[in-house]
Amino acid sequence: MTVALVTGGNRGIGLACAKRLRDSGHTVVVGCRTGVAPDGLAAVAMDVSDPASINAAFDVVEEQHGPIGIVVANAGITRDNLLMRMSDEEIDEVLNTNLAGSIRIARRSLRNMIKARSGRIILVSSVVGLMGSAGQVNYAASKAGLVGAARSLAREVGSRGITVNVVAPGFVDTDMTAELGEERKAEILGAVPLSRYAQPEEIAGVVDFIASSDAGYITGAVIPVDGGLGLGH
Ligand code: NDP
Repeated sequence: MTVALVTGGNRGIGLACAKRLRDSGHTVVVGCRTGVAPDGLAAVAMDVSDPASINAAFDVVEEQHGPIGIVVANAGITRDNLLMRMSDEEIDEVLNTNLAGSIRIARRSLRNMIKARSGRIILVSSVVGLMGSAGQVNYAASKAGLVGAARSLAREVGSRGITVNVVAPGFVDTDMTAELGEERKAEILGAVPLSRYAQPEEIAGVVDFIASSDAGYITGAVIPVDGGLGLGH
């Protein structure tokens, strides 16, 4: 069907998205730092914090598989700290990977999508970008930034048949949340109306829908998949 690129698709939410898109019949390539992905998925080496690496990886995928029609900008990191103690590196790394990296991925993907007059750009944000979270000023800013980026780009490229949407997960059972202390986990669960974490596959199902033709009239949307944690935001 369509060639799909999923950044950070070697584990966690990205891996679930890659597998789900493959199950839907797409040709999936995972963009990750090692250039190696599990479960027989095709992979390309890509560090989203390095613009040259993004461009080189797109060139390789296009040469090997053809033009990319679906992009899931999922790669992301946390460097949590109270702002008073947050280092310049913790600010720069998070903004560069999560926000600038995703914007650059979207920019490079436009080259072919504009020619094709179709495309799906899906940015993985977070409920934290909408609600805020103490100790995550850098991360929340990067995830809120994706909302402004997606809404702006949706306006720029809508007339070319390209949709740009944000998926905003709540707390998902992955390596990222495994790092949290027991007390923090209990606090989070207490605030989630569905009283549980999401499984990565539950995010992947929504990403797959947004990538599908059924979602052709959805653009500039922020779709929460958060068990109700962010409701009202
Ligand atoms: P994980 O920590 O499990 O995985 C993060 C992925 O991003 C890994 O594949 C990692 O690759 C990749 N990555 C990080 N930095 C780079 C980089 N510079 N270049 C390329 N790849 C990179 O996280 P999750 O699966 O939990 O999170 C995926 C996305 O979902 C993130 O954007 C995260 O912010 C967001 N999210 C997660 C939530 C959660 O509760 N888990 C909630 C809301 C949003 P590598 O293996 O090389 O480190």
